Amino acid sequence: MKKYDAVVIGAGNGGLVAAIRLLQGGAKTLLVEKHNLPGGFATSFRRGRFEFEASLHELNDFGTADNAGDVRVLFDELGVTDKIEWTQIPEAYRVIARAEKLDATMPFGVQAFIDKMESYVPGSRASMVKFFDLAEEIRLAQAYSSSVNGNTDSKYMVKHYGNFVRCGSYSVNEVLDTLKMPKKAKDILNAYWCYLGAHCDDLSFMHYASMVNRYIKRGASMPKMRSHEISLALTERIRELGGDVLFNTEAVKILTDEKDGGVSGVVLDDGTPIQTRHVVANCAPHLVFGKMMDKAPEAEVRATNARKFSGRGFSMFLGLDADADELGVENHNYFLYDTADSAAQYERMRTIRDNEVQATVCLNRAYPECSPKGTCMMYFTTLYMSDDWGNVKAEDYFRTKDYVANKMIDRFEQDTGAKLRGHIEEISVATPMTYARYCGHPEGVIYGYESQYWDGLMPRLQMMGEDHKVRGLRFAGGYAMRLSGYSSAYFSGDISGRQTVGDIKREG
Ligand SMILES: Cc1cc2nc3c(=O)[nH]c(=O)nc-3n(C[C@H](O)[C@H](O)[C@H](O)COP(=O)(O)OP(=O)(O)OC[C@H]3O[C@@H](n4cnc5c(N)ncnc54)[C@H](O)[C@@H]3O)c2cc1C
Repeated sequence: MKKYDAVVIGAGNGGLVAAIRLLQGGAKTLLVEKHNLPGGFATSFRRGRFEFEASLHELNDFGTADNAGDVRVLFDELGVTDKIEWTQIPEAYRVIARAEKLDATMPFGVQAFIDKMESYVPGSRASMVKFFDLAEEIRLAQAYSSSVNGNTDSKYMVKHYGNFVRCGSYSVNEVLDTLKMPKKAKDILNAYWCYLGAHCDDLSFMHYASMVNRYIKRGASMPKMRSHEISLALTERIRELGGDVLFNTEAVKILTDEKDGGVSGVVLDDGTPIQTRHVVANCAPHLVFGKMMDKAPEAEVRATNARKFSGRGFSMFLGLDADADELGVENHNYFLYDTADSAAQYERMRTIRDNEVQATVCLNRAYPECSPKGTCMMYFTTLYMSDDWGNVKAEDYFRTKDYVANKMIDRFEQDTGAKLRGHIEEISVATPMTYARYCGHPEGVIYGYESQYWDGLMPRLQMMGEDHKVRGLRFAGGYAMRLSGYSSAYFSGDISGRQTVGDIKREG
C-alpha cells in the first residue's frame, strides 16, 4: 500500500496552499483532485475566441511589491508570486441601488475613498475616518493572532487592540450606527456585502471591516491569464517541492483507526487504498462526515448540520463583439441592487423570481488585452439565499436559465445605459447545478457556510482547537475557519497545512 505523511483531498485554493505548506514542512504529500485540472472554482474556460474567468472578480489583499498585502506575503513564502503576471484593478466599485436612487463609483486608497464619500455625502468624513481606524486595528489584531497561531494573550489583546475586542460581537450596521455614519454613507460603504453573502444586520462587523480595509488600502489585483494562472503556479510549486499530484482522481473514503477513530487512510475512486494518518480536506464537512467517513463523531455531525449553507451561485458569461467604450461599459466592477437595505435585499434573493441582484465585471477595464481587439467580455454573478433551484423541474431547467440570463442583461442595460444585446457573440451560463456538479458543493453553494453570529470569522478562529475532533483530519477552503473567498481559502490552506505539519512533528 502506498504511504504518505499527508493526503490533501481537492486542488482548490485551500488544498493547493495546504499541500505546499505540508511539503515545505517536510511532509511526504499526495494531492488528489477529481477533475483533470487544478483550482476548483479558480479556473478559466474557453468559448470561441474568449477565455473566460470562471469566478474571480478581483483578488484582495495582494497589493504591490512596495505596498504588499498579506496574500502577496503568503505567495512570496510559498514561492509563487513571480510565476504569475499581475494586473491592477482600476477602481473599487460602482454601486447602483434603485430604491435609494444611488449611483456611486468609489476609488481605491483610504484617503481617496474618504474624500469621494465626502463628495457624495457631505458630513460623512469623521465617521469614515473612525471606520478605517477601527478596520486597521482589526487587521493588526488579526496579524497578531496569526503570528501566535491563534493562541492570543487576552491581556495583550485588551491592552493593544481594545476596540477590536469591544466590537467583536456586533454586526456591521450596529457598529456603523455607533460611529454615527450617515445612512447614505452606510449604503455606499456596505456595497461589498454580497461578496460575503450575509446581510449587514447579521454579518460580523470585524469580518466585513477587515475585508473592506484590505480592498481599499491595497487595491485589488488580477492574474492576467485569469485565476487559472494562480492554480497552475501553485501546482507547479507542489511538483517542484517533490509532491505527488493525481488528477482525475476522487477520494471516496477516509478510513479511520479502530482504536482512536482517527485517520488511517484514504480510498481512491479506483479502489486504491492510501495509508496516511493525516488528511486535509478541501471539500465540505457535509460530504466528509455524511459520505466519506463510515464513523464520524456525533458532535461533529451535529455541529456540521447546524451550519447554514451560503448563497448558491449563478453566473452568466458574455463575449461581446464590440469594445467596452462602444458598448458604454464604463467600469470594471458593478454592484446592482434593488435596495441598499441589505437585509431586505437578502430576502428578495431567496427566489428565482424575485432575485435581480448582480455583481458584474468587465475584465477589459483592468486588462484591455484579455480578449481580441474590438471585443470585450463580461461576467455577471448572483447568489440565491435558498435552494430555489432545487424546485426547478428538469423540463424547465433550460427555460429557467434563459429567464435569469435575460433578466440579468435587461437589468444591466437599464441601470447603466450600456447596450449589450445585438453584440453577444458567446454566452455561457452556470447555475447552482453546475457548481454542485463541478466542485461537489451541496446545493451549488459557492461561499461555504454562511457567516453567522455564532459561526463567523471570530467564533471559527476561536473554535479552531475544539473543531479538531477526528485525529488527523483538518479542513481547508471555503468551509473552513477563514470562511470563503480567494484570500480566505488561501489563508485557511496555509493554517491547516502548517497545523498538520505540527501534528506530524508532535507524533514523531
Ligand atoms: C462565480 C463565482 C464568483 C466568485 N467571485 C469571487 C471573488 O471575486 N473573490 C473571491 O475572493 N471569491 C470569489 N468566489 C469564491 C471563491 O471562488 C471560493 O471561495 C474559493 O475559490 C473556494 O476555494 P476552496 O479552497 O474552497 O476550493 P473549491 O474551489 O471549492 O475547490 C474544491 C476542489 O476540491 C475538489 N474535490 C472535492 N471533493 C473531492 C474529492 N472527494 N476528491 C477529489 N477532489 C475533490 C473539487 O473538484 C475542487 O477542485 C467566487 C466563486 C464563484 C463560483
